[in-house]
Amino acid sequence: MDLLYKSTRNAEHTVTASEAILKGLAEDGGLFMPVSIPKLDVPLQELKKMTYQETAYAVMKLFLTDFTEEELKSCIAKAYDAKFDTEEIAPLAKVGGTYFLELFHGATIAFKDMALSILPHLLTTSAKKNHVKNEIVILTATSGDTGKAALAGFADVEGTRIIVFYPKNGVSKVQELQMVTQKGDNTAVVAIHGNFDCAQSGVKAIFENKELAKEMDAAGFQFSSANSINIGRLVPQIVYYVYAYAKLLQNEEIAEGEAINVVVPTGNFGNILAAFFAKHMGIPIAKLICASNENKVLFDFFQTGVYDKNREFILTNSPSMDILISSNLERLIYLIAGQDAQKNRELMQALKSQGVYELTEEMKENLGDFAAGYATEVEVKETIASIYKETGYIMDTHTAVAAKVYLAYQKESKDATKTVIASTASPYKFARSVMTSIDEKYNALGEFELIDELEKLSCVKIPNAIEEIRDAKIRHTRECDADKMEETVKEILGV
Ligand SMILES: *Cc1c(COP(=O)(O)O)cnc(C)c1O
Repeated sequence: MDLLYKSTRNAEHTVTASEAILKGLAEDGGLFMPVSIPKLDVPLQELKKMTYQETAYAVMKLFLTDFTEEELKSCIAKAYDAKFDTEEIAPLAKVGGTYFLELFHGATIAFKDMALSILPHLLTTSAKKNHVKNEIVILTATSGDTGKAALAGFADVEGTRIIVFYPKNGVSKVQELQMVTQKGDNTAVVAIHGNFDCAQSGVKAIFENKELAKEMDAAGFQFSSANSINIGRLVPQIVYYVYAYAKLLQNEEIAEGEAINVVVPTGNFGNILAAFFAKHMGIPIAKLICASNENKVLFDFFQTGVYDKNREFILTNSPSMDILISSNLERLIYLIAGQDAQKNRELMQALKSQGVYELTEEMKENLGDFAAGYATEVEVKETIASIYKETGYIMDTHTAVAAKVYLAYQKESKDATKTVIASTASPYKFARSVMTSIDEKYNALGEFELIDELEKLSCVKIPNAIEEIRDAKIRHTRECDADKMEETVKEILGV
């Protein structure tokens, strides 16, 4: 029987997995959730011998039940291939007694690749299954990491086009170079004269424009999004937590059934939610530790049960976690409310109108799986430097948020449970912040000099993703005013 999905804001309507992937967001503004979280049906003794791709199939088949075995295996094979620089796909590095689950070995050296490598294939397969004839046009506004990962994922995927908008002076040099040098005949990158919010609002307006949708349909196009709330991004992220546990078992780091803790540097709450799903599928995970930077809205939430986004937005050295509305948290709220769509809808309406909501006492009691902490920019720098000095391991700023939060948690709780820290970006992606954490003298160097120095210090080869942009040809030079995005989309598509 098929596992069906419901909106977190409506108990009535159900859709299949492929429909949920195609839609992204439910029509009522809610997020799709499976009616129940399936249990793993492969014993750990078998899981521990599996490759990443085999593990992916064992996990994903339980969620995407309307995909045939052949379809799903084909999606997995196309996603987790030589684009990754290691056959392990998501290797574990043991550093000072803790395990870093490195999720940055894909095409754009950040954890977004884990899901965005497979989403395009899940989406095109879903389109076929649902007899969608139109070409799918992915529209994305990005503040850096997502745009490039989506471009790399969708480049040259048949039946799709991708258009990415970024704020012209609002991304790092490496991030901009990564995007404007993107290959693929179906890719377009546009610099907006405005900030990220302008780009984001522009994309939203295009999605909501019904007239435009009709015009597009007549021309053989339909819009879709690669946003992190898509179930096609959440499900692939569960895989690496199952895989990490199985590998710890295989390497005799833990005994069968021994629980582990997981620490996740968190922004939109997608990655840690995947770990929560892994736990409820049967992987022995004790605590899920949510690590925030100075935008600590989630830390406060786990402390008090009050979610309050009415606060100053702080730009930090872990920019991919600079976020005040963690969209995927809605799925947890729905679950701890006992899958009560009505209750969840009330809270989300309060968030929209007042920017704040509070859990009921009963809901607060259901948060026992979680612990939370946060780290300041200075603490992040100190953590990078001290772990490098003690062990030689160099981590990026996002991972360092998690490492710092874990050290503080361990000190306070005396919890000696073995722990996996999700390592979400390569230090090469944030070379300046990382190198100047180790020594201020590096601030005098240029971008690529820093990268060469990082290679010397870390003894980790410069990833392809960086080598590629050193002298790659600029392929995208299009710019537009924020109020001309619709015209620009039409121009690109020739409508
Ligand atoms: C997106 C991102 C995060 C945050 O992940 P969420 O799933 O949004 O919580 C953390 N680190 C890096 C490097 C990222 O790109």
